[in-house]
Amino acid sequence: MRGGEGDCCVVVVGAGAAGALTASHLVTSLSPRYRVALVDPSPTTGRGAAYSTTDERHLLNVPASGMSAFPRDPEHFFRWVRNHHDKEAQPQDFIPRHVYGDYIHGLLQTAAEYPGNARLERREEAVVAIARRGDRFTVRLSSGQAIVARAVVLATGSSPRTDWAPAGLSSADVADPWTDELPDGDLLLVGTGLRTTSLAHADPFFRDVVAPVCCALQAVVEGDFGSAANQLAAVLPRATALGGSAAQRDVLQDTLVYALARSGQGEQAAVVLDERLSRRASPRDARQRARIREGQGASSPRTASAPAWASGGQTQPRPGWQDRG
Ligand SMILES: Cc1cc2nc3c(=O)[nH]c(=O)nc-3n(C[C@H](O)[C@H](O)[C@H](O)COP(=O)(O)OP(=O)(O)OC[C@H]3O[C@@H](n4cnc5c(N)ncnc54)[C@H](O)[C@@H]3O)c2cc1C
Repeated sequence: MRGGEGDCCVVVVGAGAAGALTASHLVTSLSPRYRVALVDPSPTTGRGAAYSTTDERHLLNVPASGMSAFPRDPEHFFRWVRNHHDKEAQPQDFIPRHVYGDYIHGLLQTAAEYPGNARLERREEAVVAIARRGDRFTVRLSSGQAIVARAVVLATGSSPRTDWAPAGLSSADVADPWTDELPDGDLLLVGTGLRTTSLAHADPFFRDVVAPVCCALQAVVEGDFGSAANQLAAVLPRATALGGSAAQRDVLQDTLVYALARSGQGEQAAVVLDERLSRRASPRDARQRARIREGQGASSPRTASAPAWASGGQTQPRPGWQDRG
């Protein structure tokens, strides 16, 4: 990137993990005559949806040894954790997500404080338009102000907005492929996450069973128990397609019971166990059901009937897993 004094600005749109890390690397690698504008209406930097939680139980889904911000120094995050969070931490530990937010935020702060680095400017507003003329970009902000930049980095995460797409494409946009009617003709899939790959997968078994189960288990790991319960309830009638033994499939039903109980739907959890106990005796299930009902208290309704999905029927309650990317 070349240019005279005053026009050496890079705009990074989005201050989640990706934007903050990009800004941090840019600030470190460019000289002080450069300015890096990090623009995001969110008051947090480096956290985004994933690392904004303050709950210690919300853990990273990758061990500490796999979350370094520096590809050439894979242990960097692990060492940072030992110095700043837990001196007993091990490389294989799953660290609370908020700690990772602290890490990214800290990296950017340190980079911005060093006088030999580029200057960082944090703007708490949204980018509403970007126009290109020659080798300059005019980045319009929600305040009405504009920044002229030599380069723009888009790090807006998985925002479903598609107004960046050409009109012809966005008018045929399919926001929810499971409920929207698909247009005739070729499809362009944007992104390579689980939702996209499962939609693109030729094998309906992967699309309709494996991907939803993975999404549900991910929701459990992320502590989103209500969503996990909905997703598991929707996919359980199709779980026999996974093969294996009934005992192995019971693990999914156990996870459903757990997710229901953790999301305050204790009576529904007990109903799932009722249905299972009506098929086969199990002291463990009976104990668990008793514990759940005790936890519910005497005032809880006991009248819920076993839903079809509890016994592998075809009626699905709410189609939950589609809601996740
Ligand atoms: C609950 C949860 C847990 C996760 N756990 C992990 C994990 O353990 N490990 C892992 O590797 N990944 C995890 N992920 C995936 C995670 O999302 C990514 O790792 C990473 O945080 C994505 O960062 P991002 O900066 O791309 O997006 P985001 O964090 O979504 O940030 C995008 C930012 O762009 C801003 N933005 C959008 N539009 C504009 C605009 N027009 N102008 C200005 N700003 C804008 C938004 O306000 C937002 O702050 C998790 C995701 C979630 C949801």
